[in-house]
Amino acid sequence: MVDGEELLRRWEKTVERLFRDGVIKSEPVRRAFLKYPRYLFVQKRYCSYAHVDEPLPIPAGQTISAPHMVAIMLELAELKPGMKVLEVGTGSGWNAALIAELVKTDVYTVERIPELVEFARRNLQRAGVENVHVFLGDGSKGFPPKVPYDRIIVTAGAPEIPGPLVEQLKPGGRLIIPVGSYHLWQDLYIVDKTEKGKTKKRRWGGVAFVPLVGEYGWRE
Ligand code: SAM
Repeated sequence: MVDGEELLRRWEKTVERLFRDGVIKSEPVRRAFLKYPRYLFVQKRYCSYAHVDEPLPIPAGQTISAPHMVAIMLELAELKPGMKVLEVGTGSGWNAALIAELVKTDVYTVERIPELVEFARRNLQRAGVENVHVFLGDGSKGFPPKVPYDRIIVTAGAPEIPGPLVEQLKPGGRLIIPVGSYHLWQDLYIVDKTEKGKTKKRRWGGVAFVPLVGEYGWRE
């Protein structure tokens, strides 16, 4: 069994490597990673693997993303304090905790699997994160009660860009979403809504996520 000090030491090495390699580009993202180590958001039996730069299992057959993937999406989102963010696909709650640390305000995150809503809430509480609000539901439809959003970050792969998510962005807002095949291969898209309400999308590159299952995602 690896003790807490060793977990932290391993995690700090991972973060420094991601920074040195230019995957983590900004100080705020680096600080957020250091504040919320990934081992706080996995089951005990996976703690000693949390520093490895690969996805890990979480309950209900889902995954917590690899640290490099989370860093890439957070850097692309260009989060600033005060921004209102919706995350779709809470999973473990780790990415939501990092977002909350970057925006320093309330973050809304939607998860479709009840077991993971509980898992994420427990992890967030244990990590001392108070400003993440986890909701059970189909996030492919967005989260109407808190619209509009500065940023929407989707951490599951969709067959196409869900219309409601684009609609729920503020002018000047940005959606980050993997789009592609049902299992594993997608392209990561950055969708910007201009001040006049038009959308512009860019493709970042290939990624591998579990499917976004829902009305505007894949059917069960
Ligand atoms: N962001 C997560 C984290 O930090 O651990 C990792 C998310 S995991 C790669 C993708 C998650 O999206 C899974 O927990 C899955 O249940 C969830 N998901 C899939 N379709 C969804 C939907 N329509 N609405 C909400 N969550 C969904």
